[in-house]
Amino acid sequence: MNYNYRYRLKPSDDIREQLAWTVDTCRQVYNHFLHRLNRHDDTSAYSEQKQLPDLKKWWNELKQVHSKVLQKVVKRLYDNFSRLADAKNSGRRIGQLKWKGEHEYRSFTYSQSGFKLKNTSGQTRLWLSKIGEIPITFYRDLPDNADIKTVTVKREPTGKWYAILGVETPDNPPEKPETPKRCVGIDVGILTYAHDTDGTAVGSLDLSDERERLERAQRDLSRKEHGSNNWEEQRRIVAERHADLKHKRRDFLHKLSNHYAREYDLVAVEDLDAAGLVELPGNSRTRAGAAWGTFLRMLKYKCEREGTHFVAVEPAGTTKECAACGISTDKPLWVREHSCPACGFTADRDWNAAWNILSRGIKRLGEGRSESTPVETALPTGITTVPAKRVVEAGSPTLKREPSGER
Ligand SMILES: [Zn+2]
Repeated sequence: MNYNYRYRLKPSDDIREQLAWTVDTCRQVYNHFLHRLNRHDDTSAYSEQKQLPDLKKWWNELKQVHSKVLQKVVKRLYDNFSRLADAKNSGRRIGQLKWKGEHEYRSFTYSQSGFKLKNTSGQTRLWLSKIGEIPITFYRDLPDNADIKTVTVKREPTGKWYAILGVETPDNPPEKPETPKRCVGIDVGILTYAHDTDGTAVGSLDLSDERERLERAQRDLSRKEHGSNNWEEQRRIVAERHADLKHKRRDFLHKLSNHYAREYDLVAVEDLDAAGLVELPGNSRTRAGAAWGTFLRMLKYKCEREGTHFVAVEPAGTTKECAACGISTDKPLWVREHSCPACGFTADRDWNAAWNILSRGIKRLGEGRSESTPVETALPTGITTVPAKRVVEAGSPTLKREPSGER
């Protein structure tokens, strides 16, 4: 299996300068090959990579960049080019590849060689060929037997440097159980963030403080003279506030998705092209949609890693349908309770939806098999509302859970 691990780098001033120089040189190499690509029809990544040794004969500075790094620059250009060609073929109107300006190119990648992780007297350092050793904040270990395949060095708009290690582990993911026992349906709702069939409702993360700080920084930026030193400094602060917001949100989503992937054999969710979002006003729809997409992507790969079934189901009608009898009733957004006129079943709106999602998920999984019927799960007796803060602090919504039945 392949994973990406991201770590903060703490380069010295000298090395920081070298990293910036390398990024900028790679950018120029990218633009150089883009120019060639626009003039010659018959080039490929492979044929252009073979030009690199000749290029070094007159572009002497390139000798200061590791050869695998330069090859990756060419590969990156041709990857972008083929993505563009694919988009064009699928009928979208798209222009040409653009030259990369200074702020548009921020990373370079070592592949297979030219890097090493070293540990001397408790301090982990990343050694990079042609650059040197950089202290790295190793806050979580790599999996056992992990083989580092690539190292991408990246400068964020905040000015901070990161290393993204692309690692491969020999073990195959665990088998998914033939008959899943612990099954859960999750409705990513609007008032609560996630509402599951076990009766746990996790609140949405309160990021209003972070958002306010970001807006204040943006206001300050607009008052500074564009391009001045003060403006540059303020621009860095704005980038920092952005990063802060993003980090908090991702941390929460990581913990929540870890919980579901680890605790269950089957996780059912609504497919991302989700009908529920249509009901939201424009801006919050974008925001909710983005967070939802990130959550589902995390959940999917974590389920794969843990040997858990991940099923994304058709979302249409999950709130209207009655989880007990299956009859559909129209329900405007503000009606928070499901009350079935046909069979009299009443439940929280989101919980009823989560239950429908799980039923669809179990059905979908069963369709691919001949006989095995997944285990029926009993109806829960109540709902526990868990603040997002607790997920962030305890790493899971179900630790220190209150007795069920309370809200
Ligand atoms: Zn009913």
